Parts: sequence; structure tokens; C-alpha cells
Amino acid sequence: MAEDKVLIFDTTLRDGEQSAGIGLTTQEKLEIARQLERLGVDIIEAGFAASSPGDFEAVQSIMREVRGPVIASLARCVANDIDRAWEAIKDAEHPRIHVFISSSDVQILHQLRSNPEEVLDTAVASVERAKSYCHDVEFSPMDASRTDMDYLYQLVEAVINAGATTINIPDTVGYAMPWEFRERIENIKRNVPNIDRAVLSVHCHNDLGQAVGNSLAAVSTGARQVEGCINGLGERAGNAALEEVIRAIETRKDLYGVSTNINTRQIYRTSRLVSDITGFPVQPNKAVVGANAFRHASGIHQDGLLKERNTFEIMDPQSIGWPSSTFVLGKLSGRAGLRSRLEDLGYKLAQEELNQAFEAFKDLADRKREVTDADLLALMSSQRRTLDIPATYTLEHVQVSSGNHEIPTATVTLTDPDGQSITEAATGTGPVDAVYKAINRIVQVPNKLTEFRVDAVTEGIDAIGDVTIRIEQDGQTFVGRGANTDIMVASAEAYMNALNRLLAMGVSKGADVPTTH
Ligand SMILES: [Zn+2]
Repeated sequence: MAEDKVLIFDTTLRDGEQSAGIGLTTQEKLEIARQLERLGVDIIEAGFAASSPGDFEAVQSIMREVRGPVIASLARCVANDIDRAWEAIKDAEHPRIHVFISSSDVQILHQLRSNPEEVLDTAVASVERAKSYCHDVEFSPMDASRTDMDYLYQLVEAVINAGATTINIPDTVGYAMPWEFRERIENIKRNVPNIDRAVLSVHCHNDLGQAVGNSLAAVSTGARQVEGCINGLGERAGNAALEEVIRAIETRKDLYGVSTNINTRQIYRTSRLVSDITGFPVQPNKAVVGANAFRHASGIHQDGLLKERNTFEIMDPQSIGWPSSTFVLGKLSGRAGLRSRLEDLGYKLAQEELNQAFEAFKDLADRKREVTDADLLALMSSQRRTLDIPATYTLEHVQVSSGNHEIPTATVTLTDPDGQSITEAATGTGPVDAVYKAINRIVQVPNKLTEFRVDAVTEGIDAIGDVTIRIEQDGQTFVGRGANTDIMVASAEAYMNALNRLLAMGVSKGADVPTTH
């Protein structure tokens, strides 16, 4: 008998993008969506089409380009939201409209200023409207984990009769505990007579650190779709981290007896790409994808490992595409060596892309004796960055002098939108300040630097430095990234990346995004 599948529903581009401090361009959302397709997720929630013109455009672009997974758009139980959602996804190969409405007393009373009867009628009418467009309709009773159970049974039964094919039970505020949530799912299965006509799904938030535990508890009792985000992104403390849910299901198949359609070898690359694009670092001790997830420090563990890996490792790092620490390239390595290593890391490049990567690789290999997998990933992400953000200004030259008895001074040369080279110099409180002041003299876009972070990509004195910055303008945040063995160059690149993102995106994102589950 075929093994039961758990569908993986990724909402990194919707709930994940609602994380404070994240703002993605359509190009970047497309990049993530393509990688989610490589990862093998079953459903991509591409956005909330009615929330802003930018979201509408992104959902539409994703459904045009990404054809394998189901493409969903979120919508409130409001006619215009549902119509806009359908407008955005109607040409998708597998479209889904996902409607939601509050079902808990506290939200119905205080937020909707309504009553349970009215909410039920609205939910049924909205599912019917969505069904008139699209066969695949998902319904979410928002704040279901704090909703009266009898009302929940009634509501779920009514919307299934109205045509809902997936019922998603959200722990919207991250309030539930695993055994309690498991019981709630069991009770829904027992008390909703037509529940077998729908796929039971869960969507858990991590406010009490239980999002993954709650999701797995639900799977253990019959949920067959799990919603979440890569790296656990999402509103407030985030959603269930999909890489953890997937690995737990695969590693503990003995317990769950189900599997997923995921290509696990793409997990590391997906996590890295999402962290790269959003500028949200992955904490070193994070499960599955944290830098220390497979690093063993204690002598006892190392002794065991050397004798038999299973003594202290329950997963093979390579099975999630973890870069091998032993494989290095150098300046004598050729194009073929680079191509095959990048393929091992999940990058299939076209000839032109490979030529560009090889140029950057040669340049790096001249400065670093050994080019490790981590360096290659950093190289690929900085190459991707130049492709994703249209460069209004390009950094040609940066020169800095500073020291404890020197006034930090910087000279920069940029190419402007008309192809003109412009050089400016400035002094500052430090070298980075001097560089940014010199750049400001040319670009002249008022903004506030709210975050400046430097991470080393690899160990060693010749490590590539990875700079992430955030600038703010009119309440909107723009992330900039730069990577180089010279930290001043990386800082300048990061600022240019943020400014070009601001210039490319400045006005697109809509002011009021409605609250969601
Ligand atoms: Zn959510």
C-alpha cells in the first residue's frame, strides 16, 4: 500500500514576508519560488494578491514561472479579496484560493465586531465564491486553537459542504501545546461528519516555541498538510520551520509512517538562499540548518563519531545538501571542476552563468589559497544579488585610509544611470562612515542606517566577510548585502545593494497590509 504523503505548504513568501524588517522585490520572490520548486514543496503561498499592487504582481509572476507546485493566493472572506486572488492566479497550472476568517470569540468580538452566526454565513458565502472560480479552495478558521470546539465543528462542516477541499487549522498566536493540539485535531476528525472530503492541514506559530512540535503532533494523528516557512520565518516569533518538520518526518519514519515529496538535498541551499535574500541570519545552533548543527566539539562525541557516525549523528549532513568541509578548490582548478562542485551543491548553471562564476572564482582563488564550499556559496549569492536588483548606480572603485592617528577618509567612484563615472571623497568617524558619506554625496538618497552586521563566511584570516545592512526611508526597510575578503569593499557593496534596492522598490509596497493568521 502506497505510503501516506504529508503535503508541504510553504508560506515563506506570504507569512514569512510579514516578518518585521523583511521587504522582498518580485525578482527576489521569484528566486525563492524557483528554489522552493527545486526543493519539491507541494504548495507555494505566493502572497496576498489583494493586499498591494506589489503583492499582486509577485503572485502573478510566480504563477507564470513556477509550474510544478500548486500556487495559492491568500484572501480574506471579502468579495474583492477573492476576486483579486483569482485574477492573480487564474492562469496557474494548479491554482488555489486560500480564504480565512477569525473563529475565536476574542477575535470575532473585538476585531470583527461581529458574531459567530454572521461569521459562519460569511465563511460559507466566501468559500462558494472562491469555488465558483477554482476547484482547489482552502479554508482557515483563524485562531482555531482558541476557538470553541463545537462552533469549530459546525464551521468546518459548513465550509466543506460549500466546497472547501483543504481545511487548515491555524494556531495563529502560538498558544497551543502538542498534546492539546493533537487532541484538537483528533476531535475535529471525530466530530465533523464530512471531514474525509477535505485534506486536514495545520499552520502553527512559534510564540511559545511549539510550532514544529504542534505540527508534528497533528501529523501523528492524521493531518496531511503542514504549513510553515523556511528557517522558521513569519509573523512575530515565526512559523513552523519547514526544514525541521521535513527532517523529523523523514528521520522518524518509524514513528510517523508517512513521507514527503521533498528533495532533501536542496534543504541547505534553500535555507541559505532565504537567509541571504531576507538578510535574516540563521542562528548557529538552529536545528538542521544552523552552522553548528553537524559540528561536534566534545572529545567524547568525536571519538564516537570516528568509530561509528550513528553514535552521535542521527542525520547525514550530505542528505540535506550540507557543504562538505573537506572539498576545496584552488587557483589550479578548472571550469569543469568548478561546474561539478557547484552541481553537487545544487547549482546547475548555464554556460554564460558558469563563465561569470568562473571569473569571480579565479579572482577569489588569487586572494585565497583554498576556496571551500562555503566560499562558493557566498560567491553564488553575491553573483545572484547583482542579477536580482537592477543597479541604478554601480560601484567602480573604493579606497579607504584610516588608523588610530588618521582621519578616516574614503574615495569612491560610481557609474551613474547615464554611464558617467563620478568620484567623491569624504571623511567620517570611521572608515565605513567615510565610505557611506562619499557614496551619499553622489547618490543623494536620504535614508537612515538601522543595522550594520559583519559575518565571516569561513574560518581563517583570509575569510570572506559578509556584510548585511538595513537602511530605512519613510518607514520602509531595505536590506543590502556584500561579500568580499576586503571588509571595506564588502561594506560599500552592501550599501550600494541597499540603495539600488530602495531605488528599484521605493514606492511599490502598499501602506496597509490587512492582519492574517
Ligand atoms: Zn501565520
